[in-house]
Amino acid sequence: MSESLAWINTELEGLRDAGLYNHIRTLGSPQGAWLIVDGKKVLNFCSNNYLGLANHPRLVKAAKDAIDQYGIGPAAVRSIAGTMDLHVKLDRRLAEFKGVEAAISLQSGFTANLAVIPALVGKEDAIISDELNHASIIDGSRLSGAKILRYAHSDVGDLERVLKEQRRNFRRCLVITDGVFSMDGDVAPLDKIYEVTQNYEAILMVDDAHGEGVLGHGGRGIVDHFHLHGKVDVEVGTLSKAFGVVGGCVAGNTKIVEWLHQRARPFLFSSAMTAPDVAACLAALDVLEESTELVDRLWENARYFKKEMQGMGFDTGQSTTPITPVMLGEASLAQQFSRELFAAGVFGMAIGFPTVARGKARIRVMISAAHQREDLDQGLEIFCTVGRRLGVLN
Ligand SMILES: *Cc1c(COP(=O)(O)O)cnc(C)c1O
Repeated sequence: MSESLAWINTELEGLRDAGLYNHIRTLGSPQGAWLIVDGKKVLNFCSNNYLGLANHPRLVKAAKDAIDQYGIGPAAVRSIAGTMDLHVKLDRRLAEFKGVEAAISLQSGFTANLAVIPALVGKEDAIISDELNHASIIDGSRLSGAKILRYAHSDVGDLERVLKEQRRNFRRCLVITDGVFSMDGDVAPLDKIYEVTQNYEAILMVDDAHGEGVLGHGGRGIVDHFHLHGKVDVEVGTLSKAFGVVGGCVAGNTKIVEWLHQRARPFLFSSAMTAPDVAACLAALDVLEESTELVDRLWENARYFKKEMQGMGFDTGQSTTPITPVMLGEASLAQQFSRELFAAGVFGMAIGFPTVARGKARIRVMISAAHQREDLDQGLEIFCTVGRRLGVLN
């Protein structure tokens, strides 16, 4: 390695010493309740596969059929020659599912934020952002060149203080919150955020990546959960979590979507989702619209698991969703816990700084509709054994 890159080694050593080095495991099986990880069969508590759609037979078939009919790649950005009738159909179906006028699909939830934020605000404007918002919101905000102001996590009083003090100094103002905060599993008080922003002529945007397919009637998301249809200006979503595929979307009124067709840079300068991805997303919408069964099972599983964990004495933090953080404190303890879980047959990843604050390391358990009750019971038993052995439980 050249001298000019020697610093990387020093940085990597620093991460290892601090117990913050991220060891990435390799899967040798489809997503589901059980996985083959590094050659070992383990119970999966890590994925965002909330509804078990990532390997659902209907999605798999839709993707195969689409390959037969359309091939694979879009071979262009959407604005030049990469929009197939499939993409148009997905955009329309996403809008219908969300109960909004229009939607636009993008390559990922991450790029959806990079697409929409800089299209709505610029140098003369302000973004008021929850301090725990997702990295892609932070990056999209930085790209926009707008002044970034933060408010304390889910603190509507603090949001109002920032609006009161700062709104008049800027041309436009965009208030952004995650819908469900992915590390703690708490839900943003979007109804109260709406009430406040309404008084200050601010655009309201929610990134519902962990709420779609989870919150609201049949998984229609946080806007449906709070009955805020027509009140939230921009909904960003992902097709990579509950939808079980990959992709992102922005939903709202027709003018916003028309504007994104003209100005969103990841739409104009990066190729579209592939045909099998789009077809699988359409099949996911079919499954969600036909029945609430998977969403209901997800919540039943989540409530059961959380109640049992709390009963044993684990601290599961502030979560009110299927995201179940098991709070452990030090990153080194979380990493050791994760290793011992794995040895006992449970795949549960440790999450530490910088993904969460220092001293707030945890195992984040992701519950899914794909889990059977026996799977959850087996996981609970192993958590109990490891928790006692490491002195987390008495
Ligand atoms: C996961 C996530 C994203 C990124 O979604 P991808 O489709 O995986 O790129 C964006 N925003 C939030 C809030 C997320 O949790």
